[in-house]
Amino acid sequence: MRQGRQWFLVVMLLIPFCSSKAETARITPYKVLIINSWSKELPWQLSVENGIRAELDRREQPYEVFAEYLDADRFDQAFNHDALSTFLNSKYQTSSINLIIADSLPAVSFLIEHPSLLPGTPRVYLPDSDFISEDSIGENDVVIPVKEDYINSVNEAIRRSGATQLYVVGESFSEGGKNQLRRFKQAFSNTDLDIRYLENLSMPQLIEKTAKLPPKSAIFYLLVFKDSLGVSYIPYQAANVLAQNANAPIFSLWRSLVGSGIVGGYLLSGERLGAMAIRHAFLKAHNISLEPNLSDAYGYYLDERQLKKHQISTQTLPETTTLLFSTPSFWKTHQLEIALTLFLLILLSVLTSILIVVNRKRQRAIKALMQERRLLEQRVADRTQALHDAKIQAETDARTDVLTGLNNRRAFYEHGRFLHEQATRYHNTYSVLLIDIDLFKEVNDVYGHDVGDRVLKQIANIIRESIRNSDIPGRIGGDEFAVLLPHSAAHKMTEFAERIRSAVAQSSITIDSKVIKLTVSIGIAEFHSAEEMLDGVIKRADVALYEAKNNGRNNIALYHETK
Ligand code: GH3
Ligand code: MG
Repeated sequence: MRQGRQWFLVVMLLIPFCSSKAETARITPYKVLIINSWSKELPWQLSVENGIRAELDRREQPYEVFAEYLDADRFDQAFNHDALSTFLNSKYQTSSINLIIADSLPAVSFLIEHPSLLPGTPRVYLPDSDFISEDSIGENDVVIPVKEDYINSVNEAIRRSGATQLYVVGESFSEGGKNQLRRFKQAFSNTDLDIRYLENLSMPQLIEKTAKLPPKSAIFYLLVFKDSLGVSYIPYQAANVLAQNANAPIFSLWRSLVGSGIVGGYLLSGERLGAMAIRHAFLKAHNISLEPNLSDAYGYYLDERQLKKHQISTQTLPETTTLLFSTPSFWKTHQLEIALTLFLLILLSVLTSILIVVNRKRQRAIKALMQERRLLEQRVADRTQALHDAKIQAETDARTDVLTGLNNRRAFYEHGRFLHEQATRYHNTYSVLLIDIDLFKEVNDVYGHDVGDRVLKQIANIIRESIRNSDIPGRIGGDEFAVLLPHSAAHKMTEFAERIRSAVAQSSITIDSKVIKLTVSIGIAEFHSAEEMLDGVIKRADVALYEAKNNGRNNIALYHETK
């Protein structure tokens, strides 16, 4: 679009430089001066002018149209025609008018009477059918007598309405009205049709009569310029007033009356006549004289609103009929809105679909992400649990003697210190038993290290089975065990130590049918001084153990302060 416009501008700019003389001549406008007979507001004259313009448009002929109005109804013919001729001469002298068209008899007469008006300019005369050709018609001029084809027009009205009676409305108070009425009567001087004349009435009388016509009536409207009361009318307005009140359809001869309320029919068209005038002027300019065929200026025109109002069928209309004031269909009236709405609907549904697809993909991605996250969380939880378990295991491993399952030395001392602090704070007592296997080295030496290990496990089991839950056992050296007994005074422990000693002494291990007997020595010490540390108590238990060994082993010794 934009590019097209740019090209257009470039071409427009180049035209003044490129155009030759011939081209300059070609774009000089063709100038037409129309001399009209009546006052400016008469629709007929405007339709002729429109026809002239349309034909020049069709020929893609640049043109200018000037229009003058004699207003013959108001001004006496002799009144100022000479002065008018002089005025027009001076007005258009320098305008290089190419064609003068005179519409209707007064203008035609005026122009013929003034051959010196823009001398040499070709003329087209559009007189009434009464016009008698005169010698003064120039050889470059064209005459198209506008004959009213009442016969065909009335026949069409009867055919269209199915009426059996025709009421003709006309007047003979004005020059125009008088001519129409006379020529109409002349056309139907000898007819079988039931024609009744509503002529020379006042407008109120006309309204009254046309409002109460019998069934199967139709009205044929001739031009009414004046009524019996002397009131002047523009024929279009008079037709309009009648149409508002009449109870029968109104037909007529003039295309320019369609819209006033008449039904239409076979009509003389000002537009067609104007176009004919131009066509014949151009033919004449090429020295072609063709007899004008006035039926070219007629056509079938109907006002669709009136057809509906009077329930007139549109079934048998001639193909060339032009239907005017058609009610456009809803689709035609709102074509753009409907198309736009449809387009927006389609766009909306496309966008919605895209949105749904995108949303679905998003949902799926979120779901996958959530699943991944759950998996990850599970993995992290599993790993954390494994680490925790491993930590617990490591901690347990670090505190357990692998061979016997008892507390190792480190764990025993940790528990022991905790217990020692409790005892110190709450002024409790506790005792320590140190248990050492007698002559264990020999077991190792005689039976081997594995048997030694079995012995160690068996002693550990005996200790484990002998103690309470609150007691703390441990393996604190190679063949040396310890038991820490909370709340227990040492002298009460002798009995307990004796139980362990005798349990070991009674136990044995059989290796290759050889029975190995074992014994242990046990030293006991009691915590009794707040100043003493755990190591001190164990040291004293060790002193007692030493004593037990010295006493011949398989013995118990209690540490005494006195020592
Ligand atoms: P005593 O009656 O004076 O205690 O004599 P003993 O032979 O038991 O002498 P001691 O207590 O000094 O000997 C400890 C021996 O324990 C030395 C070592 O070979 C042995 N031993 C230490 N740890 C282990 C072990 O884990 N397994 C085995 N089988 N033997 C061990
Ligand atoms: Mg020993």
